[in-house]
Amino acid sequence: MAQQLVTILGATGSIGQSTLDVVARHPDRFRIFALTTHQRVDSLAEQCLRFRPRFAVTACEVDAELLRKSLQSSGVGTEVLFGTEGLVKVASAPEADVVMAAIVGAAGLLPTLAAVQAGKRVLLANKEALVMSGALFMEAVAASSATLLPIDSEHNAIFQCLPAGSRCGETAAGVERVLLTASGGPFRDWSLEAMHDVTPEQAIRHPKWAMGRKISVDSATLMNKGLELIEACWLFRLAPESVQVVVHPESVVHSLVQYVDGSTLAQLGNPDMRTPIALGLAWPERIVAGVPALDLFAVGSLHFEVPDEQRFPCLRLAREAIRTGGTAPAVLNAANEIAVAAFLDRQLRFTDIPRVIERTLTELPMMVADGLTTILEADRTAREHATRLLAICAKGA
Ligand code: NAD
Ligand code: MG
Repeated sequence: MAQQLVTILGATGSIGQSTLDVVARHPDRFRIFALTTHQRVDSLAEQCLRFRPRFAVTACEVDAELLRKSLQSSGVGTEVLFGTEGLVKVASAPEADVVMAAIVGAAGLLPTLAAVQAGKRVLLANKEALVMSGALFMEAVAASSATLLPIDSEHNAIFQCLPAGSRCGETAAGVERVLLTASGGPFRDWSLEAMHDVTPEQAIRHPKWAMGRKISVDSATLMNKGLELIEACWLFRLAPESVQVVVHPESVVHSLVQYVDGSTLAQLGNPDMRTPIALGLAWPERIVAGVPALDLFAVGSLHFEVPDEQRFPCLRLAREAIRTGGTAPAVLNAANEIAVAAFLDRQLRFTDIPRVIERTLTELPMMVADGLTTILEADRTAREHATRLLAICAKGA
């Protein structure tokens, strides 16, 4: 079998590192073509020494120069690029077969879209890109020869439970609804009053998954599930009413599909992202991921609860945004990115995150998402508006 050349956008993050772990187990099948980072130049240098990519991409020219210097005497021959231009180049280069989209947040949109337009096998972890640009993104998938495979564990589980031959962007026959499982996060059984004073350290200590900081906070507010609800609507062409969120604290049932004949199919496994990553890399084949099989006797029992949208309003806000449509999901995402960054920076209370998002959504006009320019403009305006609201919330207004 010919070796597949892999670009990893966001190689130094949690998903990026797990992808390298799976790739390293299969040197016969995969070779690294390009690796990228935002600011972790040291980690990227180590990865370059080990995987010897053709390209590496940093955020800015200064970092690119630092990386070139640290690779100088090693003889690896990696060409160092920088900025969005560099990301787009390695995502769409003719030599790359597979692109792992694992940048966090809106910054991943342009390179991920470039990979789709260039017809790559695109492994989508960067849910924010799809949430922002939904229709446009899925139109680009349909118009290109790209193969889109979901890496988010829930969507990967749903994909595995769909009939053989199903493709992202098409509604599978016989599906009544999908059940999106949520761990409930670290504050699942906390009162609103108790959540008032939570610290970033508490919020990023996820009970079941080891992930990047932003998605860990999103899991604690349940915005992650809200973003995933929007993601599921686009990936599987479903109405929001056909996606039900189910809190499942054990996090071993990764999601379920219910069919019109009364069947419910689920995918189970240990909470380890290497399973969906391996499926994306090798699909439709299965390869070793380094993840042990699930021990059902150790798990013992499984629990399922209705989410509490009073304590976790982000879920409601996301559902309202996808129902509103147009630029509303992009505004939701942008306001959330600003609020989460401020919370991590200790500038905003945990319980004020949904307040900033709700006010941004109600105070800004929503547009028809008729092109990338409109979406990027909505993203920029929402960031500015949410930033202004931070100061108001900090004063307790
Ligand atoms: P992370 O913070 O650990 O890593 C993010 C990566 O993106 C890093 O390599 C970082 O250098 C890069 N990056 C950050 N900002 C950037 C910018 N402005 N420009 C270019 N690159 C930038 O995040 P993660 O947990 O690996 O998550 C990555 C994506 O995958 C997110 O969209 C997240 O929602 C999604 N996801 C993650 C998990 C998980 O288990 N970690 C599960 C499902 C989905
Ligand atoms: Mg998920």
